[in-house]
Amino acid sequence: MTTVVDGKQLAAQVRASVKERTATLGGVPRLVAVLVGEDPASEIYVRNKARDAEKSGLDSEVIRLPAETPSDALLARIDALNADPKTTGILVQLPLPEGIDAAEVAARIDPDKDVDCLNPTNTGRLVQNLPGLRPCTPSGCLHVLDTAGVELQGARAVVVGRSEIVGKPVSLMLLHRHATVTICHSRTRDLAGVVREADVVIAAVGVPELVRGDWIKPGAAVIDVGMNRLESGLVGDVDFEGAQGRAGLITPVPGGVGPLTRAFLLENTLRAWKLQHGDPA
Ligand code: NDP
Repeated sequence: MTTVVDGKQLAAQVRASVKERTATLGGVPRLVAVLVGEDPASEIYVRNKARDAEKSGLDSEVIRLPAETPSDALLARIDALNADPKTTGILVQLPLPEGIDAAEVAARIDPDKDVDCLNPTNTGRLVQNLPGLRPCTPSGCLHVLDTAGVELQGARAVVVGRSEIVGKPVSLMLLHRHATVTICHSRTRDLAGVVREADVVIAAVGVPELVRGDWIKPGAAVIDVGMNRLESGLVGDVDFEGAQGRAGLITPVPGGVGPLTRAFLLENTLRAWKLQHGDPA
């Protein structure tokens, strides 16, 4: 039988835990979201993140800047937030308007305030498994596996996708947990054959239902990160129907990894507060 993971419920538990631990901190972490321009989808994301933060007992602020904001002015704003002891976490909502280099912006955020984990220093800390913030979506994937009691040590894990925000970091996190990790991408030969060997499959591709049900080894844990908007609605990167009955565990889309990504932004804000107060969390 396949367990279908309830990501909303897991996310509610993470938020409740953040709220409980925040209440005993002796201070209130503050999440600051910077929104440049007027992209309607970004406006919704930022508003939701601020609302989530407040519901978990965190302070939040949204800084809205016009689309014509020069790069230097945005960087100066980030410098000011880095220097502000009341600001715990900084996130700059992507995409940024043309002419602003997102990598330069990410590199400017104080690594201990970089709750989206896009600063290369945080990537280095992840590679070396040093204390620090970890990216939200990969943290959500590991949380699903851990709460379900999936044994990672010695397991064959196959990650489909090698992006900076999901594929690479989740591969490293699985490696640090002693899984044997294979990273697949668009040039991988015989993707089906590689996935068929996996005890743990993480699909982060952006191609609707690329991973077919009959590729799934019976009993495997399948984490579907994909979010593909089709006319029929939101679908993942895994053929959910086909995988059901074969997988031991699967995350649905929607209602799987997505809510956990949001919840781990709050967890990261709490971790950031601890890092800034001398607790490596
Ligand atoms: P990217 O587009 O940055 O990366 C996609 C990866 O998939 C690339 O490494 C690419 O390979 C690989 N790929 C593309 N086509 C194939 C193929 N046919 N076979 C094998 N590999 C392939 O995507 P992201 O990692 O940013 O996002 C992946 C998906 O996850 C998207 O649907 C996105 O919306 C979703 N997402 C969901 C989140 C959540 O909270 N649930 C958070 C972040 C993303 P190559 O490198 O060779 O080009």
